Amino acid sequence: MPEALIAEDFKSYKTLKQESAPQETSKGILAKSVEKKQSTKIPRARSSSNLVKKTIRRRNYKRMTNKHTETSPAYEKTMHWPPYTYRDYPEVVPETLQTFIDFLGTENTSSERKELQPWIPFCTLKCNFCYFPTEIIANNKMGKYLSALKKSLKMYAETKYVKTSEFSEIYLAGGTPSIMSTEQTIDLLSFCEKNFDISEEREIKVTGCTHDFDYKKLKALSEYGVDQLDLGVQTFDDDVRKLVNLRDKAKNAEETIKAAHKMGLRVSIDLMYNLPGQNLKVWSKDVQRAVELNVESADCYALDVYPGTKIAQQLQYGDLPPRGNQEAETEMYLEADNTFKAAGYEKTCHNRFSRIPEDFQEPCMEVLGTGAGFFMGNLGKFSYVDIAPAEAYIDTINCGKFPISKLSVNSVDNEMGKMMMRLYIRLPVNKQEFKRRFGKLPEEAFETTINKLEKKGLIEIDEQEIRLTKLGDVWRYNVCWEFARPQEYTP
Ligand code: SF4
Repeated sequence: MPEALIAEDFKSYKTLKQESAPQETSKGILAKSVEKKQSTKIPRARSSSNLVKKTIRRRNYKRMTNKHTETSPAYEKTMHWPPYTYRDYPEVVPETLQTFIDFLGTENTSSERKELQPWIPFCTLKCNFCYFPTEIIANNKMGKYLSALKKSLKMYAETKYVKTSEFSEIYLAGGTPSIMSTEQTIDLLSFCEKNFDISEEREIKVTGCTHDFDYKKLKALSEYGVDQLDLGVQTFDDDVRKLVNLRDKAKNAEETIKAAHKMGLRVSIDLMYNLPGQNLKVWSKDVQRAVELNVESADCYALDVYPGTKIAQQLQYGDLPPRGNQEAETEMYLEADNTFKAAGYEKTCHNRFSRIPEDFQEPCMEVLGTGAGFFMGNLGKFSYVDIAPAEAYIDTINCGKFPISKLSVNSVDNEMGKMMMRLYIRLPVNKQEFKRRFGKLPEEAFETTINKLEKKGLIEIDEQEIRLTKLGDVWRYNVCWEFARPQEYTP
């Protein structure tokens, strides 16, 4: 059935393209064109209002993705993964590890907001699109793992850098932290609060799967002081849920969201678009359902097919319906943009539509985390990844060593590129702040790139700031690749 929907959608698009006359995009011409389409042949199965909406969406797509000339898109394809990835970090060697340990012995004088991220690498099963270094939980593993995790947290907590740092957020991430029992979750949170300087206005967020929460657990988390659940919903369509190996049905996901709200918890959900079998119609319903459920925020990700994942294999062998092309994918993004905007959500971070005021504060740029396979460590000029699997992580900690497997000491060029990544999370780059850190303005550090992006209409610059334009927002991944790897970027 989903394949048929994709085919129908595409056929209807082709009909519209053939009928479509005007090249201009002014409102008058658009209105005439809509009028014309209403009076011409309309596919029987579709109402005229649907067709009008579709026409407008196609126009929006063209307007949002094309250059001023309306003839060639800013890029051929969207880059997905942020350009700085842990996959590229070098393996740790004794010298770099020692530099990191020396750094941890210094006082923290930076004013960056900080997040503490204990990491639970286990899941009950593997979603077929998942490229995270997770493990399927085995009996009796959790207790041993949690005791090693606490030892690792303690090792960091006893360093001077961490003793002189205040953390604004505790984020239980992974994997699926929700597979911990209520008691284990609360014990881990209170361990963090006892051993680290946690700000009074701190936020506590717990990530997890919708099938892991019952009323009792939600109540206990709320009473402890958890502020937010981050739930990997992905889609409310049961057919698509099955295709990507999600464990429960949409009804259960919806019930969990409602129950969490009743307990006073905020709910942020992950939604994925351009999944196999998910056309624009299915995606529109997903977005609409999120709005109806009144979630506080939704992170909308286009599916990234990674080599080695089950989904990559299934798509290659035709075991799943095909995904939409670049145009279909961008349309889905614009659909989410329109629907969430109309419902009062604002865009923030890299993929988020939110109504949470805290989501619009300066984000935590320093992340102290630990756990088997944890890959988001970022302290000072160091970025790090922890050892995996869990057994190796536990053994390393029990030998009294920091459980690090990859460690990157960022160069000044890297640091400059990373500061430009603020655009990726929809924040402006303050030019004077850039100059204070690196001794030159962004226009001096990235002259060619900035000229190119400005000419394409993707960024705008004034005396104080550099920020994305509306068009740049659609292509923000590509914009950031330009700054991260100016020499080798070709798409
Ligand atoms: S629950 Fe999350 S971390 Fe676990 S396999 Fe699925 S997507 Fe990956």
